[in-house]
Formats: sequence, structure tokens, C-alpha cells
Amino acid sequence: MTHIYNFSAGPAVLPREVLAQAAADMLDWHGSGMSVMEMSHRGPEFISIYKAAERDLRELLAVPDNYRILFMQGGGLSQNALIPLNLVGHKPQPATVDFIHTGSWSAKSIKEAAKYANVNVAASSTTSMPPPSAWQLTPGAAYLHLCTNETIDGVEFCVDPGWAAPQDAVLVADMSSHILSRRIDVAQYGAIFAGAQKNIGPAGLTIVIVRDDLLGKALPACPSAFDFKLVADNDSMYNTPPTYAIYIAGLVFQWLKRQGGVAAMEERNIAKAKLLYAALDADDFYQTRVAADSRSRMNVPFYLKDESRNDEFLAGAKARGLLQLKGHKSVGGMRASIYNAMPLEGVQALVDYLNDFAGRR
Ligand SMILES: *Cc1c(COP(=O)(O)O)cnc(C)c1O
Repeated sequence: MTHIYNFSAGPAVLPREVLAQAAADMLDWHGSGMSVMEMSHRGPEFISIYKAAERDLRELLAVPDNYRILFMQGGGLSQNALIPLNLVGHKPQPATVDFIHTGSWSAKSIKEAAKYANVNVAASSTTSMPPPSAWQLTPGAAYLHLCTNETIDGVEFCVDPGWAAPQDAVLVADMSSHILSRRIDVAQYGAIFAGAQKNIGPAGLTIVIVRDDLLGKALPACPSAFDFKLVADNDSMYNTPPTYAIYIAGLVFQWLKRQGGVAAMEERNIAKAKLLYAALDADDFYQTRVAADSRSRMNVPFYLKDESRNDEFLAGAKARGLLQLKGHKSVGGMRASIYNAMPLEGVQALVDYLNDFAGRR
């Protein structure tokens, strides 16, 4: 098989070293005689895997001691319900929650939250970060939700937005598609969530990082298995966690540490994004729609000026081993997702193809 580069938005590329390690461990993890999939989640073997994953993630993101890391199931979308179910119970009902709308994923979050709270859309733009001066926030809102990287639209908050919010606002961020791609200041957030299948590991695991004073504020209707306080009190073992996905995520965390951690990844991700956007900007053969200061470093949507050549573009890419470049069906065009596990060489291979297809050389 020729070498391929996988630009899928998710489930997405994983480091080859991690997959090789998982293959080596598959039938017998560290002499235990068991596959990780066969272990009790309460046994010493799995507990050691779990504790290492928790510790490494805490170290990679410099998560302060007053935050809990929860390893949950249900994916990013389930958090659209679980965030309001967990964070508005202490307010007079119905509580009000604020949203910044920047694309398809925040739109979904808004729709779901409206089942549990009054929703105020404080600002809206799907081609740039709305300027904080224009945010119409609700005094006393339970929280302010943002999607800090819109996977489909390609809009990213490239700085932590905490400076823009009032001091007492509880920021909630959906970081599903850029967590661990750049340094963040966790202390600016009340809660962060991320489905694992973009930049962490296999689908089925959802990471929640929540400040401990926000635990215990669930609505009575919140399902027990998804009550952040119960999950935190039981070290993510209130019910069976997604054990194999946690194990792979743990291998990815170790791989990230070997790469030099999140700061080193951020440098590489900046270089990768710069290279790709430069090729897209070289002339008007390709087009992008996101303002320069809000361009995602992880998900790069682009369009051919002549869209009648889309199929030809995708077939040519596939022939070169450049896979899964088709844009999301809701916006069309192309999308290159260049997560942590995508090496610079993969982006260079895509750039070479972009130049060739545009007849630039
Ligand atoms: C993929 C994605 C989700 C949805 O994740 P699921 O695991 O499919 O529920 C939510 N938010 C963002 C930003 C995403 O990229």
C-alpha cells in the first residue's frame, strides 16, 4: 500500500506509533495475559492505565487542582444537553444561558440547550470571531457557551476568550476539534468538553474538565450516569467508562509528551496551517471564507473557484493517497483537517497537490 495521509474531520488520524503500540498490546497487555478490552474497570491493571491517562492529560493542559477531569461517554453532542442539565440547577427556573454562535456546532448546542433553559444568542457570525464589544450578554446568566473551534465552518478562537467575558461569567467551551492543539488557560473556563475522536483518540470517549465549585448544580432530571458530581465523586467509574478508548487516549497523551507537549504541538500546528493557507491564498484558484484572524489551524475548509471540478479534484487527491478531503455536506467544497497527528509532510503533500492541480508548476 502506498503511503496515505488522512485528512478526515473525525474520527480522524491517530499517531502511527500509538496504533503500533496498541497492536503490540492487543492480546496481552504488559504480561497480564489480557487484552485491555477484557479487563475489569476496577482491577489494578486498568486503574493504573486510567490514573496515568488522567495525570498525563492534567500535565499536558496544566489543569489546576480545583478542576476535575471526567472520562465520560456520549460524545460532544450529548454534552449539549448535559451542560445545561448539570450547570443551571441552582438558578431560578427557567435559567438563562448565553451563547456565541459561530457555526454549525454552536448552532446545535443552542438548539439543544433551549430544551432546558432560556437561550440568549449574544453574538453571531460564522466567518469570524464576533468581537467581544458586540456581545449582548445577560446579567446573571448561568454560563456563556462558545465553540472555540468550529469543525465545519473553520472558525477558531485562537486566543482564550476569557478576557472578553465579565469577571463572574462561567465560560463553557466545546473544544472537541482543537483540544491539545494549542496552549490554553484552563482557569478562564468553568467547563471544557471534547469528544475524543478528533484530536485525542477513538470515538466513544468524551472528556469533561470542570471547576469543582460547579459540581452539584444539576437539575433533578439529570440522568445519574451523566451527573458531573456523581461521575467526579466516583473517579469516572460511576458506570463502566469507555475503557479501551481511555487506554488509546492515554497512549496519545504519552505520545504528545514525547513530542514536547502542547507548546511544541502548537508551534507545529501554526507552521502546518501557515503552509496550507499560503497555498490556498496564492491566487483565486482556491477560495476560503473565514476572516484571517479567525482561521482554524485544525480544520481548513476551502472551495475550488470552478466547483464543476470538485470530483476531479477529489479523485486526483485520492490517487496520490490524500484521503477524506471532501467538505461537510452542509457547506460543500473541501476540508482538510490537520490535527496533531497529521505530520508536516502530509500538509506538504497536500500543498504540492494543490499547486499541481491549479497548474502552478
Ligand atoms: C464532532 C464535534 C461534536 C460532536 O461530537 P459527537 O461525538 O459526534 O457527538 C461536537 N462539537 C464539535 C466542535 C465537534 O467537532
